[in-house]
Amino acid sequence: MKVVMSPKPNVIAVLKSSVSRTAKLPLAVIRGSEEFRYKKAKEFSDMLIKDLDKVSDGKCCSVDDFNNIIKKVLYPNKIKLSIKNKKRVHDSFSAVTVGTLSSIATYDRHSTMIGQTRTDYYDSQISEYEMYLLLDRAEETILDKYVALHESRHLFDKICNPKTLVERDLGIDLVDSKRESFDSAYKCLVDTYRIPILEYFIKLKAQYHLSKLSDEEYINCLQCIRRSLKTEMNAYSDELAYLKKDYGKNFWSIIDTSGYRMHNYPKRLAMVNQMLGDKLAEVREKIHKDNSQKTNH
Ligand SMILES: [Zn+2]
Repeated sequence: MKVVMSPKPNVIAVLKSSVSRTAKLPLAVIRGSEEFRYKKAKEFSDMLIKDLDKVSDGKCCSVDDFNNIIKKVLYPNKIKLSIKNKKRVHDSFSAVTVGTLSSIATYDRHSTMIGQTRTDYYDSQISEYEMYLLLDRAEETILDKYVALHESRHLFDKICNPKTLVERDLGIDLVDSKRESFDSAYKCLVDTYRIPILEYFIKLKAQYHLSKLSDEEYINCLQCIRRSLKTEMNAYSDELAYLKKDYGKNFWSIIDTSGYRMHNYPKRLAMVNQMLGDKLAEVREKIHKDNSQKTNH
């Protein structure tokens, strides 16, 4: 199934304003099929693990080493990466959001520059990719290299799949009421826990929010959700493989993966794909009907 999604020009204009010149990537990195681009991101992940193993001490590694490795992995491409202390920045909800990025990604399709800015800095041209990780008191050491790898895979996926960079921002040019529907459907399908039990209700609720959007917005929203779920699956897959490499098959009992199990991303993705397929069939049917009505007149 292939749906072409292109952000509206005014979205691009808004995004362009906050992209930094220090974060530039050549087009070659981001060309190719979706499968090829995820493969490229996986290669970056594997390179990171290889170098991380050389400098890490158990689960820990220094922030400087990590930054240098990311630079080396992405070379000759450049990105301004800033490692922030998850605990300090997001103390109130750190327990829930450990290992996630809380910034808005920006992407300029025309100049292939990428960056990531926080909402409150949106107009001030400060552009860097902020990665929130648990650090020690001195903020010199990353306390969990597996989570760092997880977050890096999101970064690599974004670099290789620029469309994921505008995932949440696609709602920017919607009127407020529609943006709310867009966000509610997103939250419902990506963030809600315990999907095996609530699957039916989650789908109903998401469909309710999505029904307020036009066909195009409906499809765009589901496409954006699909990419979010995909990069989450990639990030967990890399993280779990790294843990398995270091701890063997028993790693499930060593770490708390209940959040991952509860999220059940593959099942969500299957559900979203089905919803997308249904919508596309509906749109095709509509076009077919319109065309046959025209020929009858
Ligand atoms: Zn993640």
